[in-house]
Amino acid sequence: MGEFIYLDHGATTPLDPAIGRGMLEREATWFGNPASLHPVGRAAGRALDEARARLAEAIGGAARELVFTAGATEALGMAVLGAAGERPGRVAISAVEHAAVRTAAQRLVDERGWALDVIPVDSEGRVQPEGLAEVVGPETRIVAVMLANNEVGAINDVAALAKQMRARAPRARLVVDAVQAVGKLPVDVRALDADCVALTGHKLHGPKGVGALWSRVALRPLLVGGGQEDGRRGGTQSAPLAWALAEAVARQRAEAGHLVAMRDRLWARVEARVAGVHLTGPAPGRWRLGNNLHVCVPGLPGEPLFNALAAAGVCVSTGSACRGGAFSRVLAAMGRAASDGAYLRLTTGRFTTEAEVDTAADRLAAAAAELRALLGVG
Ligand code: PLP
Repeated sequence: MGEFIYLDHGATTPLDPAIGRGMLEREATWFGNPASLHPVGRAAGRALDEARARLAEAIGGAARELVFTAGATEALGMAVLGAAGERPGRVAISAVEHAAVRTAAQRLVDERGWALDVIPVDSEGRVQPEGLAEVVGPETRIVAVMLANNEVGAINDVAALAKQMRARAPRARLVVDAVQAVGKLPVDVRALDADCVALTGHKLHGPKGVGALWSRVALRPLLVGGGQEDGRRGGTQSAPLAWALAEAVARQRAEAGHLVAMRDRLWARVEARVAGVHLTGPAPGRWRLGNNLHVCVPGLPGEPLFNALAAAGVCVSTGSACRGGAFSRVLAAMGRAASDGAYLRLTTGRFTTEAEVDTAADRLAAAAAELRALLGVG
């Protein structure tokens, strides 16, 4: 990737050039408004239908249950706010939800009189059925639990959590943020027994500005307007963007193994070269996102290590005091503290190469050793 080694695919991914070209080509033929009844509009409408059907099939849903959005923040906002009826109730979210869910739930509290409950996670960042049972009860009307965590890569057994939720709160709706999971692990919305599932294009080498919400329940729309998306989301749809999202999911699924191979190679090299380093979150395998490496380098402060890596051209992210000095909520919920050491997240993508991974690990080892010497840490 030119002069930078990009290992921050959990934040966003570079657009797959083939998808970029495909979108541009399709703009020439599918530029019509899908609602127009002339041939140009109908062509766009058909393309939109095809993309919807393809994407729905990829996640085990029906095409009519899928709404295209501008991304996952919108999809999750629509799920949380749109599921809340007129009467206030209780909303329960896991302690490690993304801000898209957290702030939507907070809005229910601040503006609509709801009560918020927080579902704890274990020391690996996973929600356990017993943790859910602690806070979810008959008054709970919305539960949000992510399928895979964006920071530490912890995967939740959503089907087991859904079972627990339905036993304790039969009227509650389950909102699942599958942003990090789609394309990297099999996602079947019916097997999850979720009510709403959100995804986005830019985490899987698709374009920014397109996402989707699968929902099997009726939701009050966030965006009203011309009645598009069956009245669920106003605004003229883009058939090329919808195609790009479906294509990105298909390509990511086909190449998910590469992400894992690069992550495993990275971890093997980091573990061998960085003194004292240890993994945060679940062990690689069933309960850890295949492209996620999250580590703690004990004895070192996070920000200087992050900065040294950035200066060396390696783009990663820090789970701790990166912006504004606030410690990660996710790590705090797992019982971690800033004093543990430097927390770093390194996430691989479809275009990550072995050479990049090896160089990044070497630069991390060099930066950590230099910082240790500078600070006089043993
Ligand atoms: N949920 C998770 C877990 C994420 O990682 C992100 C990405 O930032 C989002 C939601 C928000 O997605 P978007 O950027 O498409 O709004």
